[in-house]
Amino acid sequence: MIEKGLFPVKPTPVQYLGKLPKGQEIFMKRDDLLGFSFGGNKARIGAAFLQDMEKKGKDFMVSYGSCGSNLNRTMALLCKSRNIPCLIIVSGQEAGGQTFNRQIAADTGARQVLCGKDGVAAAVEQVMEELKGQGYKPYYLYGDARGMGNEEAARSAYMGAYEEIRRWQQESGVRLTHIFHASGTGMTQGGLVAGKELAGGQEEIIGISVARDAERGISAVRRYAGEGAGAIRFETDYRCGGYGLYDRDIQEVIREMMNCHGIALDPTYTGKGYSGMVKWLARYGDGSERVLFIHTGGLPLYFDYLRGL
Ligand SMILES: *Cc1c(COP(=O)(O)O)cnc(C)c1O
Repeated sequence: MIEKGLFPVKPTPVQYLGKLPKGQEIFMKRDDLLGFSFGGNKARIGAAFLQDMEKKGKDFMVSYGSCGSNLNRTMALLCKSRNIPCLIIVSGQEAGGQTFNRQIAADTGARQVLCGKDGVAAAVEQVMEELKGQGYKPYYLYGDARGMGNEEAARSAYMGAYEEIRRWQQESGVRLTHIFHASGTGMTQGGLVAGKELAGGQEEIIGISVARDAERGISAVRRYAGEGAGAIRFETDYRCGGYGLYDRDIQEVIREMMNCHGIALDPTYTGKGYSGMVKWLARYGDGSERVLFIHTGGLPLYFDYLRGL
């Protein structure tokens, strides 16, 4: 008999990786080692959504993401593990096709509804109406059909991670100057910024955009961060042309990280974020920086990448 239950979100390890040519010290927070479905930021965020859903008395999870979505895979599995019905809305399948994330999600039996990038709001509305008609109390994790209104639950996940980082600095004696990570919807960065604000932290939190332009990206991070957030640092110079696109530098970073540390990065998120961070530090840094990169997971995308080589 295997008991069902929410996995424990425990502080993830921070490891020292080494120095960049200018002298910056690089540490990595291993959120990829969180103990559910290959970990990652979606494990933290997904657990927060599930708790929020239960608190609100809802009984049907509705998730949304691209065909390579780590969030959809994580939500499908979290719900399956607790016997909660789950439906995932999938966009952009014409471009990406089959991915390991989608395959894993499909294997839970979660229903998948496909839509185009411009048809997300309509798909969400239709699905929610349909489920209500069937007598369910559905929970769309982003809030309304436009994806707004449920910022608080998402924010809490990386506020908690910021607190772990603060404690790690106290215990290790390392004073970080910068925290970097791959930034997409703004849920992760918004939570980190809110956590820093609450604790009065001094680190620069820099999101490397994986797709969005500055205007859209910054307004989303600000929305997730909530009241009182200061300046948002969202770097858009390292996008390589858009979501899922990558270059030789990113490929080199992925190879090196595997060969030197045995750590998998992927070209869509963590490889793009790490490569962008290294370029940012070469351009703007003076060498004295002490830097934390958050490994936000996404292991199945590494295998998609290998398969495509
Ligand atoms: C979703 C995701 C991100 C981006 O996180 P946001 O909270 O959407 O900004 C980064 N890395 C991985 C592996 C992800 O799956």
